[in-house]
This record gives sequence, C-alpha cells and structure tokens, in this order.
Amino acid sequence: MTHLHLHTRLAHAGCSPDPVTGALVASPVFSTTYERAADGSYPGGYVYSRSANPTRAELERVLTDLEGGAACATFASGMGAAHAVFAALPAGAHVVVADDVYYAVRHLLATVFEGVLTYTLADLSQPGALDAALRPETALVWAETPSNPLLRITDLAETAATCQRHGLQLAVDGTWATPLLQQPLALGADFVVHSLTKYLAGHSDVLGGAVIARADDERFARIRTVQTVGGGVLDPFSAWLTLRGLRSLHVRLAAQCTSTEALATFLAERTDVEAVYFPGLPTHPGHAVARQQMQRFGAMLSVVVVGGEPRARAVASGTRVFRQATSLGGTESLVEHRASVEGPGSRAPGGLLRLSIGLEHPQDLISDFVQALDAVPV
Ligand SMILES: *Cc1c(COP(=O)(O)O)cnc(C)c1O
Repeated sequence: MTHLHLHTRLAHAGCSPDPVTGALVASPVFSTTYERAADGSYPGGYVYSRSANPTRAELERVLTDLEGGAACATFASGMGAAHAVFAALPAGAHVVVADDVYYAVRHLLATVFEGVLTYTLADLSQPGALDAALRPETALVWAETPSNPLLRITDLAETAATCQRHGLQLAVDGTWATPLLQQPLALGADFVVHSLTKYLAGHSDVLGGAVIARADDERFARIRTVQTVGGGVLDPFSAWLTLRGLRSLHVRLAAQCTSTEALATFLAERTDVEAVYFPGLPTHPGHAVARQQMQRFGAMLSVVVVGGEPRARAVASGTRVFRQATSLGGTESLVEHRASVEGPGSRAPGGLLRLSIGLEHPQDLISDFVQALDAVPV
C-alpha cells in the first residue's frame, strides 16, 4: 500500500483484521511456540518467538516501510539496537562515532566493546573531521543528528558520500528526528537506528529499539543473528504498544514541533539564557543543512542558562508543568540537567538544560519555564 500517503499508512499501523474473529486491531501474540502440522511443517511460518513473532514482525514491517528500507530488526531497547550494529562488525574493526553522540553509545564502546572494537570520537558536524578520523581498519561510521544534547547537525548526504568513497558502513541514530522528519537511508546511510522508547512508541511506557537497513544483505543478516541468537528481542506487548503509538505519530510530532519552535524563539530572546540549541533557529550553525535534510526541526532543544550549574538545577527543580526527568518523546514535557544525568565525562555544559516538548498547550510551557527562570534571578 505504498501508494497511500505516509500518514494514512501510519494511521492503519497494526490494523490487520483477525481472520477468525474479525477483530480490527490484531491482538499481541504472546505464545512463545507454534504448533506443527501433521506433516511437520509450520502452517503460519512461525516456530519460536525468539526467532520470529507475528506482532514483532508486523512492527518490523511498518518500520521498514516508514524508513523506506529493506529490512528491520527490533530489540528490547534502543541500546540493544545500537549494540547489535556494533556486535555485527568483525573483531578488531575501528569505528568513528560522533563526539556529541547519545552518551550510552560512548559508554557501550568503552565498556562492552573494550578490547573488541576501537573507536574515535569526531565532530561529524564539521567538514573534514570524518576524513581525519579514518584508519585503514575503519569499518563503520556512527552519526547522530540532531545530536545529544548539543543538537549539532551532521550533513548526512555528505557523510554518506565520504563513507561510500572509503567503502564504510554508515549508521545513523535517527531517534530525535524520527522517520517523519528525516530519512537517512534515502540520503545514503546503510542503517537507521531508533530508540522506540521515544517518539515512535511516544507515551513513556515502552522500552524498545530498532535497526532498519537499506539492503537486506549479508551485513543485515549478521544484525538479525545478533537479534535472534543473541536474544535481545522486543517482546510482543511492547511491539503492540509501539504499533499503537505509531498510529498517532504524525499528529503528535506536528504539535510537538510547533510548540518547540515557539519555545525556542521565545527563550532565545531572554537575557538570562546564554544559548538556545535548536536547529530551527536561523542563528543555529546547522540551520541550513537541517532545512535541507529535515522536514521540520524536531521537538528537542537545549538551553544554557546564565548562572551555570547551580541556577540550571534550580530552574529544573522549579518547573511545574515540565516534569524533571530524563528521556524524551512522550506526551508530557520533560526538563533535565544533562551533565548530572550523564555523570563524569559528560560533555554537556553545567548550565545546560535539555527539554523534551510534549503535547501541553505551548503557552503553559512558556509560562512555566519563565516562572522557573524568574524564581532564580541572575
Ligand atoms: C534514548 C536514546 C537511545 C537509547 O535508547 P533506549 O531505548 O533508552 O535504550 C539512543 N539514542 C538516542 C538518541 C536516544 O535518545
């Protein structure tokens, strides 16, 4: 049904009527095992739910369609998906990772893959930084755009071209942009990785991850093996909740983007805010590239308040509508002091607050943030 608009396909995600009952919304399939026919075959094609499960398969089909890919594997978390991409590389391989990458990805390489893979952090938003980081044994480049928490923008078409020139795989963490705002595979990436936990499930009640591949080839087969033999699969109920979340993704995201644009524009004018990191602002260094490769600029922003860490922490504690918590992509807006969440080694400035914009009325969000700022005068 790819002739229908994306929004229409999304609105019907997971709506494949049950052939026996006619139930419009398919129920999650919880069975771990599937009965053989007398001749020993499996009539439904399913054997055991670690290898494949109908609910998970339906979600993987929808995600493949959304990203315009060829195949998808879903995992128990976004980090499970990231882990699979790295675990599929040959031992001894070198990877180049965006330096402002989601901090657990850095942590993953420094701990789980210590002694297995080597890596170099590079500011991929800067032309030339990738070339300078390459080594003869480099196998993969891991980009994230917009990045976390500085919202740097990496030019995906240019990065993909560099990767193709050197025969490297390119994986893009597209969690913050979602497939609706940015399509890395169409720009030449090999893999897109998502934390389903965020916008795609969208209600702060599901943990999940996905890898979508441009080609269903030997490299994706290794990722599939990490999924089904490594065993970090997404469970059927989480897959079902993610399908439910996806049905309203386009509507949620549109409202969230609109509110974020309003808040960013407003906060950029405050004299007690040092910096607003949001690619939708014309003053953002990545604005032109973001305009080119994104439909809209997303619903995440970071602000650096005047007064450093003490004031930032006080502001985060003083909000009433914004909830003080980590994560993003839910219907409720969140504020967090990023440096203290990441801990030692964090690259986030002390005064930085990361905001995830939800579905509240934008005026309530602006008023709430203003009262929290005003409560702690500079
Ligand atoms: C949350 C997040 C992840 C990790 O996903 P989990 O579902 O928490 O494991 C990876 N990348 C980005 C950009 C994220 O925001």
